[in-house]
Amino acid sequence: RNTLDVERVRADFPILHQEIYGKPLAYLDNAASSQKPRPVINAMTEAMESYYANVHRGVHRLSQVSTDHYEGARETIARFINAPKSDEVIFTRGATEAINLVASSYGRAFLKPGQEVLITELEHHANIVPWQMLRDQLGIKLRVAPVDDDGTLRAEAVTELIGENTGLVAIAHISNALGTIVPLQEITAAAHAKGVPVLVDGCQAPPHQKVDVQALGVDFYAFSGHKMYGPTGIGVLWGRWDLLKKMPPYQGGGEMIYSVTFEKSTFKEPPHGFEAGTPAIVEAIGLGAAVDWLSGHDLDAVAAHEHKLLAYATERLSAIEGLNIIGRAEPKAAIVSFTMDQAHPHDIGTIVDRAGVAVRAGHHCAQPLMERYGLSATVRASFGIYNTEQEVDQLADALQVVKELFG
Ligand code: PMP
Repeated sequence: RNTLDVERVRADFPILHQEIYGKPLAYLDNAASSQKPRPVINAMTEAMESYYANVHRGVHRLSQVSTDHYEGARETIARFINAPKSDEVIFTRGATEAINLVASSYGRAFLKPGQEVLITELEHHANIVPWQMLRDQLGIKLRVAPVDDDGTLRAEAVTELIGENTGLVAIAHISNALGTIVPLQEITAAAHAKGVPVLVDGCQAPPHQKVDVQALGVDFYAFSGHKMYGPTGIGVLWGRWDLLKKMPPYQGGGEMIYSVTFEKSTFKEPPHGFEAGTPAIVEAIGLGAAVDWLSGHDLDAVAAHEHKLLAYATERLSAIEGLNIIGRAEPKAAIVSFTMDQAHPHDIGTIVDRAGVAVRAGHHCAQPLMERYGLSATVRASFGIYNTEQEVDQLADALQVVKELFG
């Protein structure tokens, strides 16, 4: 235990075995999106080749098989995050839609004008903009807990802002821009002591560490399939049953109703009452396969492997003169955000691309966080289960070239 056979992992990913400009691909953009292992590709192909049909409505055989696979994926995901029941797992387009669902449904039904939604400086735009839209529609307020200079989010920075007016805490599990891991348990305990529910933007956690929604004690947990080795177009909102059950519908349409007349419609219970229209059937099945594949590895070993990569990358990049790492929180996920004194992040990204290294350059959909550090952009290397120390070397060597070019 606590080791991971990275070569065997890599063998599952067809896309990794290629050259970019004649150099081996080093894919270090996992926080934006991850690559797909063969079992995910196969599961989706098999669905389309052998049993695809619309779900829940057909009496015919293919529809039944399709429905079984779609609902089976829900159960797999529920077990993966230790949800008390699979009916608490709602399929969405991704984390963005999951957060919008809570803002529209829970927010409009249960937040009152003047109440506050408490977020933090390190949120992704997906956990800022829906609350701003709600603010402008409902007259709620946004409060923002600060991060420290080194990227740490202290629990007290959040908990001291929870007061009588707080209606909801909406907070990331792991910062996609800096890697900061948020002390969720402490924050949730303090929020619940004041009767305030907690929504977590989980996006960056499930592919990298064990997520147990019951142990975290949170009320809503949102994440995307494509960052956890699954397909795009599918994500999850997990919510506590008692909350989901009292929430009004999000979108209206087919699949989510019991009966419709021109006068009145009646709605299904969760999860189907929140899944209007034909869902992303093949993608849900693909996400189920990704979870099965990920569950085949010891997630503690995955976390240990990525932590080693983080330590090594931090050491190698710190040795480059004029390179500044932004965010050195402890604990931190395997994300290294940095700037270089002479070169713009986009130039750095372009130059390392020529060396086969895929990194992100930009604001990482976290413009307020960039502004907090007086920046408009950083370069971000983000690691996943299949990355290696050689790839860190490939990045560091390419950055040395940047330094020489611009130095
Ligand atoms: N939150 C965080 C922390 C993220 O990293 C992302 C994706 N970059 C999102 C939300 C949005 O996810 P999606 O675009 O898949 O809906």
